[in-house]
Amino acid sequence: MTAPPAAPPGTTAARATLAADIGGTWTRLRTGGPGAPVERLRSPSRLNHPGRPVTELRADMVDMLCAAAPRGAAAALSFGAAIDHLTGTVYGSAPLWGAEAEPYDLGAELRRRRPDVAWSLVNDVTAALADFVVEHARHGTRRIGYLTISSGIALRVADLDSRRIPVDDRGLQGEVGHLPAMVTGAAPERTGLLCECGAPDHLASVASGPGIARVAARLGIDAGPGLPAWLPAALADGDPAARRLLELCVEPVANLLRTLWCLDPHLDLLGLGGGVVEGLGARYADELRRQLAAPASYADPGRDGAWLAERLVFCGPGAVDPLQGAERIGRWLPGIVR
Ligand SMILES: [Zn+2]
Repeated sequence: MTAPPAAPPGTTAARATLAADIGGTWTRLRTGGPGAPVERLRSPSRLNHPGRPVTELRADMVDMLCAAAPRGAAAALSFGAAIDHLTGTVYGSAPLWGAEAEPYDLGAELRRRRPDVAWSLVNDVTAALADFVVEHARHGTRRIGYLTISSGIALRVADLDSRRIPVDDRGLQGEVGHLPAMVTGAAPERTGLLCECGAPDHLASVASGPGIARVAARLGIDAGPGLPAWLPAALADGDPAARRLLELCVEPVANLLRTLWCLDPHLDLLGLGGGVVEGLGARYADELRRQLAAPASYADPGRDGAWLAERLVFCGPGAVDPLQGAERIGRWLPGIVR
């Protein structure tokens, strides 16, 4: 296992930097820190190059990043995949390399090719959290999290008091999209749906963007690829099928939040973002708050509007930026610990 890179001798605060936010479709790169221009390139990904072998896609990725890194730079990469935060091993990224791809130690390859650069690799949700913290943490905030609901679902929680982001023995935290969806009562429209990972009834099976489309198909909603545009308008019109769809798809997210607050009473602030939250905006926020207001049991007596307003932040488009988060991740790196 590769140890985190030590800072080269002679490092100064003025060291060159590279930040990158690598997604399935686009890679955004910035040298020169916050405020400098952002370069946007098409990612060397399976999504963009369906016929190209995964070994070549990975080599293209390494070439692209090595070409972008200034000599002796501190490079912070935000990666749209489950990743071992301590080594840079990428576990799974269907958009980048296909669902069948074996884990790949991208960090080790980058360090081999460009040993002059101090590479750090984090998941894009971790980077988003680092950005969210700067904008939203208040005096007295103890633990703070960021939940993204988009093509996938993932959560990251940081402890502000100790400045730590704990990870498990594989360097992961909060890959909740691939846990069983917590639902109450049988809803046949929502049962047995397959997740992107191939398993049925995961949280992402029903609550991610593709998950909402799966439930919509079960409900007989025939919006096709126009669903993300149809749904907000239909909700605004009070369409009963649209309301039922939102209710079914929000419920496992509400139950996830109930569980988080039950297990971690010091989770003082949680940001919610990603394409689903952004696209549905106030409709999504209102439905989630409505469900969370309902009492479940003495363990969860329901949360009123003021309580929720103190703890939930619904992030609009562009409000949280993983590229900026990558630039802000340095102060967190010593605290990403097993
Ligand atoms: Zn899954």
